[in-house]
Amino acid sequence: MKKCDGHTGRWGSTLLIIGALSGVMLGATGCSESDRPLEPPVHFNGNIFGTFYQVTIMDPLTQGESLALEEGFKAELESVDQAMSTYREDSELIAFNEAPLEQWQPLSNELIEVLAISQSVAEASHGAFDITVGDLVNLWSFGPGARPEEIPNDDVLADRLAQVGFDAVEVDTQQMQARRTRDVFVDLSGVAKGHGTDRVAEYLEQQGMEHYLVNIGGELIAHGLRDEDAQTPWQIGIEVPEDGQQRAQHVIPLASMSVATSGDYRNYFEADGQRFSHTIDPRTGRPVTHQLASVSVLHPSNAWADAWATALMVVGGQKALELATENNLKVLLLVRDGEQWRSIASPEFVSYFGEPLVNELGIEQPLAPAPADQPVTGE
Ligand code: ADP
Ligand code: MG
Repeated sequence: MKKCDGHTGRWGSTLLIIGALSGVMLGATGCSESDRPLEPPVHFNGNIFGTFYQVTIMDPLTQGESLALEEGFKAELESVDQAMSTYREDSELIAFNEAPLEQWQPLSNELIEVLAISQSVAEASHGAFDITVGDLVNLWSFGPGARPEEIPNDDVLADRLAQVGFDAVEVDTQQMQARRTRDVFVDLSGVAKGHGTDRVAEYLEQQGMEHYLVNIGGELIAHGLRDEDAQTPWQIGIEVPEDGQQRAQHVIPLASMSVATSGDYRNYFEADGQRFSHTIDPRTGRPVTHQLASVSVLHPSNAWADAWATALMVVGGQKALELATENNLKVLLLVRDGEQWRSIASPEFVSYFGEPLVNELGIEQPLAPAPADQPVTGE
């Protein structure tokens, strides 16, 4: 790597709250534009998967290197979108959804990998995570179609629900092929963002980056340190689950770990005075409506974290805690309690961060049961 003089090397503030990032900062002068060192943090922002991405690098980079890096990770994101978007007609997933039933379809490595992760989480969550909910997602107007903001007709709903079930998709990881055995529409939106952050992180690793943060629509991977000199870790804000707010409810340190959050407060529609979240309960075919406002899952793989966050959002507070405990997941739940929030951690979350920090953050441990969930009504 070429070096120019004048790299100041002092890193900025150590607190990062999702959404508060700005543009690239230039460092010294006196050499060609491309060799010019950039002062960390170097930020990259853009849009993908119908949401935003933010990549922050703390490693030393020249302007030329940063441009090449950006091009490289954007190509990764584009390839994920091409493989698993349900919003573009030419994606591999759309072709899979249109292929004849029962016939095995050869698929790309990445689609097979994400399908396999999805099926594992589906099994472990007893069907709470279910990629065959695509038709229901569309029926409730959360998919690529129009958004009529209407509650679907009961008969149509029952008809579509009869097809749904993750056993309708078979994945053969040896032969790299998959097939549908019933007419279901496979939707990977509950796991693709997480996979996207994994892919970007992998790419950054290959390019020799050691200290970086990748954020795609709130699914994050933090690697290395925010400030190597001061040995300060990345600090991640877990948002207040409220409309229009971008305030951190808790700020947690994250090192070589990913976190995915599912919430009912970002993507929803209202009809007849009721809020419908974009997470569908595959048992009822209806959007979840319960006291659990947000679930954050920590996992070395963000695809797994993403799928689990959606699964736990489906089952709700107490069940989410049980599943998290059963599967040794590091989970933070924000549960509505009147006008307030209760923050509840799984045992694995507590042992990962240690009791002193968990207490300091005002997070409850699962000794006290979470408030009972309200039944799913959706009506
Ligand atoms: P967010 O992080 O924005 O809360 P999620 O990761 O929870 O998003 O994914 C929500 C998307 O997943 C929905 O828009 C829908 O396409 C899909 N989805 C909804 N319900 C389920 C489910 N039970 N299992 C798998 N995918 C689902
Ligand atoms: Mg998800």
